[in-house]
Amino acid sequence: MHLKSLTVKGFKSFASATTLRLEPGITCVVGPNGSGKSNVVDAIAWVLGEQGAKALRGGKMEDVIFAGTAGRAPLGRAEVTLTIDNNDGALPIDYTEVSITRRMFRDGASEYEINGNSCRLLDIQELLSDSGIGREMHIIVGQGRLDAMLHAKPEDRRSFIEEAAGVLKHRKRKEKAIRKLDAMQVNLNRLNDLTAELR
Ligand code: ATP
Repeated sequence: MHLKSLTVKGFKSFASATTLRLEPGITCVVGPNGSGKSNVVDAIAWVLGEQGAKALRGGKMEDVIFAGTAGRAPLGRAEVTLTIDNNDGALPIDYTEVSITRRMFRDGASEYEINGNSCRLLDIQELLSDSGIGREMHIIVGQGRLDAMLHAKPEDRRSFIEEAAGVLKHRKRKEKAIRKLDAMQVNLNRLNDLTAELR
């Protein structure tokens, strides 16, 4: 699995539709300070479902929409599409290429799509959950993040490792199963009480 391309339109400094094609291996983005290199990484985090404006270096989520420049009016929506090569079947979907799209309007409404079909954020999170691209975005190590990881509390560091190892999903399933078992036990107790009363 590798990221094949990223198309940004109306996202942060990218007013016009811009597509970056990525080859397998290492890709470097170079450019002068303030030219939008980190905005490319923000676009990847955002399309994968990032919900925190701070994580995207903004004050509010609307800040991801192109705010205008001296020569160009602000836009009403931001749109990012990330295309992933799925020839190795790392994503549990019957497509060799998977495109994930997120669109957001100034009123705060968001839309998500998988291969052009409308979906929920949850569908994207579930699709990615086994691939190591998790909800907590540990695949993106921002400036200063490495330092934070080294100084993190042991339990926080453990959650990084668990997500990378794919344990988190099973932990969530286990918690759900325990909740169901508890509910079942309550029902069983009630049934036993009723049976005892009827005897
Ligand atoms: P550095 O090398 O200093 O880290 P960079 O190349 O990573 O810089 P970014 O931080 O990605 O640069 O981009 C910053 C630029 O993006 C700034 O010029 C800022 O004005 C612009 N920008 C951010 N959000 C928006 C927005 N919503 N609308 C228009 N421009 C934006």
